Amino acid sequence: MAKVLIIGAGGVGGVVAHKCAQARDVFDDVLLVSRTPSRCEKLAAEIAAVQGRTIRTGGLDADDVAATSRLLKAERPDVVINVALPYQDLPIMDACLDAGVDYLDTANYEPPDVAKFEYSWQWAYRERYRAAGRMALLGSGFDPGVTNVYCAYAQKHLFDTIATIDILDCNGGSHGKAFATNFNPEINIREITARGRYWERGEWKETDPLSVSAMFDYPGVGERRSFLLYHEELESLAQNIRGLERIRFWMTFGEPYLKHLEVLGNVGMTRIDEVDYQGHKVVPIKLLKALLPDPASLAPGYSGKTSIGCLVAGLKDGKPRKVFIYNVCDHAETYKEVRAQAVSYTTGVPAVTGAVMMVTGKWKGHGVFNMEEMDPDPFLADVAARGLPWHVEERPA
Ligand code: NDP
Repeated sequence: MAKVLIIGAGGVGGVVAHKCAQARDVFDDVLLVSRTPSRCEKLAAEIAAVQGRTIRTGGLDADDVAATSRLLKAERPDVVINVALPYQDLPIMDACLDAGVDYLDTANYEPPDVAKFEYSWQWAYRERYRAAGRMALLGSGFDPGVTNVYCAYAQKHLFDTIATIDILDCNGGSHGKAFATNFNPEINIREITARGRYWERGEWKETDPLSVSAMFDYPGVGERRSFLLYHEELESLAQNIRGLERIRFWMTFGEPYLKHLEVLGNVGMTRIDEVDYQGHKVVPIKLLKALLPDPASLAPGYSGKTSIGCLVAGLKDGKPRKVFIYNVCDHAETYKEVRAQAVSYTTGVPAVTGAVMMVTGKWKGHGVFNMEEMDPDPFLADVAARGLPWHVEERPA
């Protein structure tokens, strides 16, 4: 039996805590800590009511490496699940190294003052994790996360060579608000307003933000306009899928969402630098985050489905083949099970599966790893059993 320390008590942290509490056969001790301890206590009460299990809670500012390291040395968890914000990745990785604890997250590091995300900062820890005999698993959410594992599965079982991958992410649900983001608003808006980027024949190609779109057919949802974005899993998959010629990422957005975003951008509300307001320093995107609905609060009454997967094309036995490997998840169902909407659920469940892979030794290694570097089979069996079944659909090649 294992002990898990969860850091972060937002939309995703809530799902992770519920699912760890459900996993009685794996985790005999679940500790949830975050910057605002009252959010952890509220979740613990909800988990006691819904899952009938007691979890422990506490407060932690994970930007403080010494404080995190002290907590880890006192508690000695088998694994840390970091579902705070990407800004905390490096401080928590430092603390895990210092205390000798394995690490997992769902989003790659971003420096707070530059809207830029890439793996270089976390890959720079490879040698230190290797030397310390510890494991860090990066990006164990849905995308990145399950999408990387779908690609590894396609490589292992479905193709002799993979030529192209398009990762397709559709939230076909409705929360009834004029404008809201489904995960942390600051991180979400930074991602969407960045320049688009995809990888083709060894080169990164850039596009203006949200300037390239195409229609895709999403199982469980239907045809939706999807916009080309840069997403972090492109960086590792371009390196780890053999013979790949092109990889792109697409996400659907409704017209009202895009219109709000355009207006907010035009008036400067998505800026990430400090501006002076009557002698106070204000970062517009942080003020916007404080005004927008908390992603966790969208869950009650959310209807519709998410449909996310990988459209993979290549050759099998000398013949062209194209498949869509995907999951469909229903917002109302996830609310019933863990009081969360499907975007939090599809991120939190794979985080728990990743941690289960690590503590049971089904995935092991010393160093820093992306998901596609591990055997996809035990992960896919576990994530399906925990609530995210997956399907392979043949498409005309
Ligand atoms: P939320 O904003 O809802 O929650 C973030 C939590 O982290 C809050 O509880 C917050 O505390 C806590 N936190 C922030 N700073 C600190 C700190 N310094 N120390 C301790 N705790 C801190 O975000 P989400 O739950 O929506 O997202 C969580 C993570 O999941 C993000 O990194 C996001 O990028 C990632 N994600 C990954 C996806 C994937 O598929 N791979 C998809 C969606 C999200 P407080 O309550 O005080 O603000």
